[in-house]
Amino acid sequence: MYSKTEIATLDNNDPLSHCRDLFHFPGTLDHPQIYMCANSLGLQLKSIPAAMQVELERWQKHGKQGWWEGDPSWFTTHEYLSRAMARIVGANAAEVVAMNTLTINIHLLLSSFYKPQGKKTKVLMERGAFSSDHHAIKSQLKFNNLDPDLHAIYIECDTDSNLISEKNIVQLIKDHHDEIALVFLGGVNYYTGQVLDMSLIAKTCQEYELPLGLDLAHAVGNINLELNKWGVDFAAWCTYKYLNSGPGGPGGIFVHEKHHDNIKPALTGWWGHEEATRFEMKADYIPAKGAAGWQVSTPQILNYIGLRENLKLLDQLNLDDIFNKRIKFNEVMDEMISSLQNKGKSIKLITPKESNARGAQCSITVGQDAKSVYEKLLAHNVICDWRSPNVIRLTPAPLYNSFSEVYQLYDILDQIIE
Ligand SMILES: *Cc1c(COP(=O)(O)O)cnc(C)c1O
Repeated sequence: MYSKTEIATLDNNDPLSHCRDLFHFPGTLDHPQIYMCANSLGLQLKSIPAAMQVELERWQKHGKQGWWEGDPSWFTTHEYLSRAMARIVGANAAEVVAMNTLTINIHLLLSSFYKPQGKKTKVLMERGAFSSDHHAIKSQLKFNNLDPDLHAIYIECDTDSNLISEKNIVQLIKDHHDEIALVFLGGVNYYTGQVLDMSLIAKTCQEYELPLGLDLAHAVGNINLELNKWGVDFAAWCTYKYLNSGPGGPGGIFVHEKHHDNIKPALTGWWGHEEATRFEMKADYIPAKGAAGWQVSTPQILNYIGLRENLKLLDQLNLDDIFNKRIKFNEVMDEMISSLQNKGKSIKLITPKESNARGAQCSITVGQDAKSVYEKLLAHNVICDWRSPNVIRLTPAPLYNSFSEVYQLYDILDQIIE
C-alpha cells in the first residue's frame, strides 16, 4: 500500500483539493463520515441552501412574476442547465435538456425511438441492466402489444467475472440486426462499475442503422462522454449521483442533432411546445427545436437549484482534472486491494482494471458475508452500499473525497475483513 507520506503528497498535489471544503459531510465535525457513495447520492454543496433561499424569496416577492423576474428567470432556468450539462456529456446545448427524473425520461424517449415495425421488433439490452431499465423496456414492449419474453434479446455477462464483452454485443448486433428495433444499454453498469465502449457500440449500431439509447445514470459526471461525436441517438441520466443535485434531483436527456428534424416527441405537453408561441395556447403542437421539444410539464424550479450550483462549480473546473483524479483513485484502490490480498484477506475487485473500462466506483466482493462487512463498514463511519448477493460498492468521488480517506479505508478493511 502507498505510504502515509505518499498519500499526503497525492492530497497536496490534488488540483481539486479546494473543492472538498465546498461540501457538507455527514457525521459529526470530529468524526466526519468517510463518504464513498456518490454512486447512490452525491453530497450537498454548501452553496445550495442560500441559492434555494433566493428562489424562495423570488416567489415571496414576485409570486408568478418570478417566471419573468431576474436573470435567469424561472422561465429561462433550463437554458443554462442545457449548456452546462452539454459540456459534461459532449453535446451541443440544443441536444440536452434537464427535466423530470430518469425513468420517466427513458419512457418519453422510448416512445419516440422504439418503433417496432415488421420483423424489426426486438430490443437488445443487458441481462444485468438496472431494474428500472428492465421495467421500462418490458412495459414499452407490452404497450406495443409485444410479448416481453419474445422481444427482448439479452446480453449475458460472464458468469465468473460478471462483466460483459463489447465483442459479444457487436456479434449480437450483427447476428440479429434484422430483428432489432432498438439497442438500449447502460453506459456504466451499476453493479460492476464496468464502462462500456460506447463509441464502438454506437459505430456498430450506425452500420446497421439501429437506434442506440443509453442510460447514463452512473456515467454523467463520472467519465468522459462524447455523445455527439459518437453518434449516440438518445440518452437519459439522473443528476443526484455524480452531479450531487440532491435526492430526486432532475434528470437530463440527450437527443442527437441528426434527429432534430426527423424524430418528434411522441408523448407531448405544453412545455415542449416551441417557446415563442407556447402561450398562444393553441391545441396544435409545434415542438421546440431539439431536446427541449421532449419537455412535457412546467419545470420543477426549486428542484433545479442543486443541479445548477453543481454545474456552476464544474464550469470553473477542468473536467480532465476530475477524470485524472478518478484514475489516481483507481490506482490507490487497486493497490489497497492487492495489499490486503497479500495479507491473506479475502477481497476481490470485480470492476475491470483498465482505466477506460471503469469510473470512480469500485465494486468488491469478499469471502465472508458481504452484508456483515458492509454493516461493519457503516459502524466504522464508512458510507458505501451493498448490492445483493455479495457486492460492496465503494466510490471515492474526485470532487470531495481525499486520498487520505482511502488510506483510512485501508486500515478499516484490514481490521474487518477475514
Ligand atoms: C440510479 C439509477 C436509476 C434511477 O432511476 P430514477 O428514475 O432516477 O429513480 C436508473 N437507472 C440506473 C442505471 C441507475 O443507476
